[in-house]
Amino acid sequence: MSGRRSTLPIAGRSRFAALGLVGAALLTLGWYRSAGTVVFSDQMVSGALAAAGSMAVCLAVALRTLAGRRAVERRLADLVERASDLPLSPGPAAGGPAVDVFVATPSMGRYHRPSCPLATGKPVQAAARAAHEGAGKKRCGVCQP
Ligand SMILES: [Zn+2]
Repeated sequence: MSGRRSTLPIAGRSRFAALGLVGAALLTLGWYRSAGTVVFSDQMVSGALAAAGSMAVCLAVALRTLAGRRAVERRLADLVERASDLPLSPGPAAGGPAVDVFVATPSMGRYHRPSCPLATGKPVQAAARAAHEGAGKKRCGVCQP
């Protein structure tokens, strides 16, 4: 794991933030202009400014959400690609019986193979499959124990 917090470049985030700030400024300007007038035609211009600002804010939020979703999809594809390199089963110890041991933390909803990247570096506890499933945990979709 590289320890990255986000795969979205800072330049991309700044673009969304700039669009959101422009929208908020237009919205504030429209509100400020319309607050000081009682003439309906003047309020219409202000209302149009505020509406344009609202649309810009909504567009910035939507684009940021889509970019974040794409970043999550790329990260998940990377994890699945890494998991495809994992051995399919831990294999029996030399001369001993084959025992499948899987790991999870008490707060996890899924159990993993010990080599799964989603369990790496976490304070996991080893147990048999039946114990994890008895605790209500499901199989990990990445390492597929
Ligand atoms: Zn896993």
